[in-house]
Amino acid sequence: MSLREFYQEVILDHDRTPRNFGVLTGEPTCADGDNPMCGDRIRVCASLEGDRVAQVRFTGSGCAISVASASMMTEAVAGRTVDEVQTLFTRVHTALTTGEPIELPGDLAVLMGVREFPMRVKCATLAWHTLRAILTGEQRATTE
Ligand code: ZN
Repeated sequence: MSLREFYQEVILDHDRTPRNFGVLTGEPTCADGDNPMCGDRIRVCASLEGDRVAQVRFTGSGCAISVASASMMTEAVAGRTVDEVQTLFTRVHTALTTGEPIELPGDLAVLMGVREFPMRVKCATLAWHTLRAILTGEQRATTE
């Protein structure tokens, strides 16, 4: 299996069985994300405990990359502090939007494969923009 096939396999797995998909109970803070380029629409909800992102879940629909990226994001940020999440956002965003060789932790590494498809970069960053909207007190995010 080539690296490329491996990347595709991980993305398809997250798309088929997205992690943390569904409504978050309690009184979470939510934001809606929209990627009009592709038609991806997701809603991300997070519960914060102090300066920590305790739990994140998402709903919505979109292409395989947008769903897989949201799924990976929820796993990557749960339990991290808001500062750590902001730093991770910047790393992911820089990794996807520039040619810089940045190492991403865990399954997020496969997002680097999306750089080969510039049209899909916004699909991959949508969930991250939406989560950041929550952290900055906004209710919606768009990739436009
Ligand atoms: Zn998409």
